[in-house]
Amino acid sequence: MILQRGVKLEQQKTASLRHKIKILPVPEGMAEPKPLPPRKDKLDAGGIIAAAEAAGIVDEFDGVALDKKMKRLRRLKPDMIVACCFDEDPCTTSAMATLRENTHAMIAGLVLAARACGAAENKIAVATAKEARVIRKINPQADLILAGERYPARVLLKRKLYASGKNAAYIGAQALLALTAAVDDSEAQNFTVVTVAGDGVEHWRNMRVRIGTPLQFLLDACEVSEKTKVVITGSSVTGKAVTDLSQPVTAATRCVIALKKPPRNKTYPCIGCEKCERACPRGIVPWRVLREIQSASPDPVRMPNVQKCIGCSACAVACPSGIDLTAVISKAAAYKKSGDFD
Ligand code: SF4
Ligand code: SF4
Repeated sequence: MILQRGVKLEQQKTASLRHKIKILPVPEGMAEPKPLPPRKDKLDAGGIIAAAEAAGIVDEFDGVALDKKMKRLRRLKPDMIVACCFDEDPCTTSAMATLRENTHAMIAGLVLAARACGAAENKIAVATAKEARVIRKINPQADLILAGERYPARVLLKRKLYASGKNAAYIGAQALLALTAAVDDSEAQNFTVVTVAGDGVEHWRNMRVRIGTPLQFLLDACEVSEKTKVVITGSSVTGKAVTDLSQPVTAATRCVIALKKPPRNKTYPCIGCEKCERACPRGIVPWRVLREIQSASPDPVRMPNVQKCIGCSACAVACPSGIDLTAVISKAAAYKKSGDFD
């Protein structure tokens, strides 16, 4: 059944959740952020949206400016706003740690966002029942929903809520916390929490860092090994390798993964196990698309739904042959769109 699709990833959360979030000093030479003028607007929808705009908040969930997103949602009238406090990457815990250490402020930000968007309900999404118990101990009033442990959890959660008749909208944990700070303390979004992990660093940690801090600074704080061969930001599933470690942390950076061995790139022929099909949350059959695109004259009719691909890479992660199915589907979608076939 499509709702149960996705792929189970080996979770390695404990190492970075064992310690409290570490506050990384601001690198020398980085200019002090300019304080915002005190907020004067009323705390109605317009006032909350204005505070988000003044604070320059970007939602790490989708990289969109929070004020613009809330304005759009106000028009779309969602039933529910969901705070995304789960991490899809196997090594990343920045959203979980942020919720654990700021539960009350997170709830306050969520209530503000729901008010700004005109949504009657709000819920905090966490990955597992175990995590829900941790949060309920901190705040028994927290209204929680489980996103589950299968990847891509955010897509599967959206499907689950949609199937239950809920028209929900999603906002990231860092953005909601920044919204509370913007409204309560007139603070701009100057900081974010990033997980540093991977076998290339001695200490796996969540660190609260100034946005704009170079990636190298975070790696050094976690005692990066000289044997590190590749550094990935974004996610170890869909993230991109970075070669220039002077690149800054942005509001959307969730993790920095340092690896001593580059991810395998050896591929083998398809063995027809159909794991890719079971993993896809969009009802695409990647192995069939692969077969078709490799044929002498690919027929677009035999590649249904490829344009619905969201690039989550669940199929590629599930594939025991190491085939880059994400690229295959993307190629098929481009081929279909081009109309360049008989
Ligand atoms: S990358 Fe595309 S084809 Fe692969 S699992 Fe995700 S949605 Fe499905
Ligand atoms: S998971 Fe890989 S090997 Fe299995 S059917 Fe899909 S493409 Fe073929």
